[in-house]
Order: sequence, then C-alpha cells, then structure tokens
Amino acid sequence: MQRKKKLPNNEESKRELEQEAEEIAEEKEKKVVKSGFDKESWQPKTVTGKKVKEGIIKNIDQILDSGIKIKEAEIVDALLPNLETELLLIGQAKGKFGGGQRRIFRQTQKKTSEGNKPRFATLAVVGNKDGFVGIGIGKAKETVPAREKAIRRAKLNIIKIRRGCGSWECGCKEPHTLPFSVEGKSGSAVLMLMPAPKGSGLVVEKECQKILRLAGIKDVWSKQLRRAKTKLNLIYACFNALKKLMEIKVKSDFINEAGVVEGFAKT
Ligand SMILES: [Zn+2]
Repeated sequence: MQRKKKLPNNEESKRELEQEAEEIAEEKEKKVVKSGFDKESWQPKTVTGKKVKEGIIKNIDQILDSGIKIKEAEIVDALLPNLETELLLIGQAKGKFGGGQRRIFRQTQKKTSEGNKPRFATLAVVGNKDGFVGIGIGKAKETVPAREKAIRRAKLNIIKIRRGCGSWECGCKEPHTLPFSVEGKSGSAVLMLMPAPKGSGLVVEKECQKILRLAGIKDVWSKQLRRAKTKLNLIYACFNALKKLMEIKVKSDFINEAGVVEGFAKT
C-alpha cells in the first residue's frame, strides 16, 4: 500500500530536512570506532595517570578497590585494553507515521532570538565483557562531541561487578549470571535483576541487555518492580542494580558455592 504524502508545509519540510541530517549523522556514529589508544603518546595529567603510565599501577583493581576517583579516561584505556563501546537508544524521532523509532541521540530545541538551537544528548556504555562496565551521558550542540563526552564519562564511571551462578536450577558455579538478586532504583524506576540458569539469555529490556552484555553477563531474569517513566531512568536503575553486586557482603562459603568472581573471571 502506498501512503499518500501530505503536501509539505514549511514547518514540516524543515523538520524532515533536520531529520535527514540527523539520520546521516547517526549512520556515521554506528560505524565501530576503535579506541586507538596509544600509551606511548599519552601525557597523563593526574597522579594516578602517571602511576599507570610508569607501570606502578598495573591493575584496575588497585584503583577501584581503594576508592580513588578516576579523572582521566586514558587510565581505563590503559588498564582495560579490550573495552568495547555502545551507544544506547535514548532518543526518539518525532512525527513521521506516529514516530517511535528509537535513536541514539536525544534532541532538544532551545528557542532563542536567532532561531532554534538544537542540542544532542547520548548515552554510552563501555565494558570489557569480563566484569567491568560503565555508563555516561554526553550533551553538546553537535553529535560528535556529545558522543565523545558520553564515552569519556562512561570510562570515568567504570565499575567492577560480581558474577557467578546463583541459580538453584543451574548450580554450575560458572560466572554466566549473577550470584544473587539485586535491585536498582532511579527516579520512578525500580528494577530487579535475578540469576538465571544457563541458556536463558538476557530476559530484560533491550537497552539494559546491552549494559549486561558489555559487563559479561550472559543470563539474567528481571522484574520491573516499579515502571519507569523514562527510558533513561530504566537504564540508570539497571546500572545501579549492577553497582549493588559489589556492595552486598558475601560469606566465603557462598563464594565457593556460587563460583563468585569479582571483575575478571579467573581462568
Ligand atoms: Zn549456572
């Protein structure tokens, strides 16, 4: 069936042009960006950064366990070389057949005397698929700096998580799921993540799946205890739940029983 196109009035054609420009920008974004981090040419600006470059700090655990705040994204690049990045779909295209298509950039307009000024926001997830994950939001007048900012912030926000097999139906002691259930909140959203047996996959909302995948979790069950009004709240609730994995005290018996690993899985 051919849809009859409405005669475009000025406002509408302008919007379509904007949308087209946005789509082109997004196509570029989708291409995988290799981190291309070069430790040799890196000029660390912080004490911690200098220690990493000199090889005094060899392990990200030394930083995360001592509670030092990471202020340089390059520290994370140097210590977690297999970091992968993904942008989450937090935006939404307006108009066009009811809209609804999710986009990686959330666009907002600011009306000024010179006209509408667009601003872009995007949310990045970084993770090594082996126990470390971070998320960050970036806002800017253009898409590229917004993305750069988001990725940088995600690296500064990196956390270590616990994995294991807390599923009584499975009991394999491998780190494919969570060792126990955790709950995360953000705004209106309350999300519970639960251990699941091998092969269950990530039974959770799509953007949350991306976070869990980059964290190295393969199976999970979930429950939204309170509905999220915004996608962002749900995403933050998911990340906050993952943070809880390290906050809860566990007994050594349980560590053996559920095969709990912190950060990297031991091989
Ligand atoms: Zn298992």
